[in-house]
Amino acid sequence: MSDDRNDSFSDRGNKGGMNNKDRMNDDPSKSKRKVYLRKKVCRFCSVKNLKINYKEIDVLKRFITEGGKIIPRRISGNCAKHQRELANAIKVARAVALLPYVKN
Ligand SMILES: [Zn+2]
Repeated sequence: MSDDRNDSFSDRGNKGGMNNKDRMNDDPSKSKRKVYLRKKVCRFCSVKNLKINYKEIDVLKRFITEGGKIIPRRISGNCAKHQRELANAIKVARAVALLPYVKN
């Protein structure tokens, strides 16, 4: 009985391994990047009404993580100019206690 179980188990393992290999051959770096890459448009460039200001907590909150960290440009998709302004605004907001430096 126990022998039977062992056989089916190893069979499954082999199949999984084969699948993994197939995927590896299919350019792993490309597929991995595609998962994270989505259309990146700087929000402040596309929506002109959006203004970066340390008082606009609702706007700033979208660009910080739950832990209170500023989301990096390569993830948020902001352009360099706006990311810089945003980071400054967030830092000011922290200094005047509108945003947390860290949560928990
Ligand atoms: Zn921009």
